[in-house]
Order: sequence, then structure tokens, then C-alpha cells
Amino acid sequence: MNNPFPYSDTNKRYYTFDYMMRKRFGAKCVKIPIDAGFTCPNIDGNCGSGGCTYCTLPHRSGEMRGVDIEEQYLVQSEKLSSKWAGALRLPYLQDYTNTYADIHILKKIYEKVLALPGTIGIDIATRVDAINDECIEYLREINERTFLILELGLQTVHDKTASLINRGHSYEKFLEVYEKLKGLNICVHIINSLPGETEEMMLTTAREIARLHPFMLKIHMLYIEKGTPIAEDYKKGDLELLSLEKYVEITCKQLELLPPDICIGRITGDGQKDTLIAPDWSKKKFVVMNEIDKFLVKNNTYQGILYK
Ligand code: SF4
Repeated sequence: MNNPFPYSDTNKRYYTFDYMMRKRFGAKCVKIPIDAGFTCPNIDGNCGSGGCTYCTLPHRSGEMRGVDIEEQYLVQSEKLSSKWAGALRLPYLQDYTNTYADIHILKKIYEKVLALPGTIGIDIATRVDAINDECIEYLREINERTFLILELGLQTVHDKTASLINRGHSYEKFLEVYEKLKGLNICVHIINSLPGETEEMMLTTAREIARLHPFMLKIHMLYIEKGTPIAEDYKKGDLELLSLEKYVEITCKQLELLPPDICIGRITGDGQKDTLIAPDWSKKKFVVMNEIDKFLVKNNTYQGILYK
């Protein structure tokens, strides 16, 4: 296979999570979603007024909410075992803001997760405004003894957009906390097609990510889901979403700008099929991924080709 991208042993021309984990741990790894019962400061805290405009969480409660962590882990592992027998397991605290609690509560929950059988570490998703110094110290301690990924929602570096989507914190705030977290395996999340954003603005966000050089990046398309404030804007015609072709083109241009050794944890997301309003094309995740692969081959390009 003629693939010029160095961090790949398949046709992928970007550094996938699968490749990174196989190289690091010698085996396939699957994430096990755990709902640890947290909420979000942008919904019920001082900074918030109803959450990010695209957030579905205030309107739905996951089927695992309130279920004991060990039981969740067993149920979710069982679901994945037929497809991924023998794979390594990484518990993923995904929904809401998983550092939004007193340090004693965080310790109780994380230690319970870390004690689950057969896990290789912990993956914690959160927001920068819910991480204090005590929490950072504890995260550093966890990082010393196991594999830790800390996922931070950024979505955009443009404060005007952050305000439009009711993100609840600025890019400056993000940078302040990001600096304090240096040395940890940070995964930054960004969203393409946010309201009012041009292609150049999305590329600027990618250039900033390149400069920050986190361990991992997740790139999402904006989903319009039922029951969210952004769905109202969409219905009024106030919002234009990227077509599949344009999403593929912009995402590939972002990949070109990034350092080749940033792991790409996601290159498109999974909208909730039963609640998704638009874009319809995003329901077919594998089609989107294939189109990205095809675009990179057709243009003989890959992650990092334009990184300086
Ligand atoms: S930070 Fe996450 S959980 Fe909180 S409102 Fe935004 S999307 Fe929802």
C-alpha cells in the first residue's frame, strides 16, 4: 500500500485513535461509556443559562443514569464483547462535565472506575471552567499511575461564535486552564459548521490547535437535534449547514494544518438517529469517513503536510 503518511498501517492518511492505541498497548482498545451522574456548570452552574445551544443532555437522560458504575461497565462490556472479543477496555466518562464536583466526590468516582476489572485507564470528558487546582493535582497523580485522557470541549477559538452557541467560557479561559494541564494527555474537541463561521474561521481554529499541539483532537460536525435551542434557529432558516462535500474538504484542510503526531480521536460524530434533524448525511458515519479517505488520496495529501 502506497501511503506516505507515517503514523498509519492502513489506508488512513491521518493518525487514528485505533493506530495510536495498538502501537501503545499492542492490541485493539474499545471505550466503555460510563454515566457517572455528573451535571454541567453551563446548565446548572453560575456560568450557565441553559447550556450550549446544540446540547441535547438537558432534554434526555441516558438509560444508564443512576445505575451503579460496576453494573454499567458489565452491561456495556457485554454489548461490545461479541464484536470486540479480547479488546482492551478504556472506561469513558463522556456525558456532561465529569470534573464538576467536589474533589472528595471525584476521588470516590474515579477510584471506583479505576478499580474496574480489565481496564487500562480512564478517559474523562469535561470543560475548562470545571477544573480547579485541586482537581489538576489529582489528575496528575492519576496520570502517574495509569493511562489518562482528559477531553476538553473547545469547539471554536472564536469568542463571537462561542457566545452565539452559549458556550459559557472564552478562548482565553480555555488557554489559561490548558496551560495548567500541560503534560497530561489532552484531547481537544472542535465543531465544524458552527453558526456564522466561514471556512477560514474553521481553518484558524485548526491552526490554533496545531500551535497548542495537544495529544489528541476530536473533530465533529454540528448536529441539529430535536428539542435544542439551535433547532429553533435552524427551523427559522437562520443557519446554513455544511454539505457532506464541504465538510470533507474543510476537515481534510484542517488535517493538513495539524502536526502529524496529534491523534485524531474522531473525524465525524454520531448524531442520535432518532432525534437528528440535520444534516441527514451525518447519519452515515462510515460514508463520511470513506469520503475523507478518498479526498486525501485523490489530492495526494495527508495530516501534517502543511504543518510548519
Ligand atoms: S458543555 Fe457539554 S454538557 Fe454542558 S451544556 Fe455544553 S454540550 Fe451540554
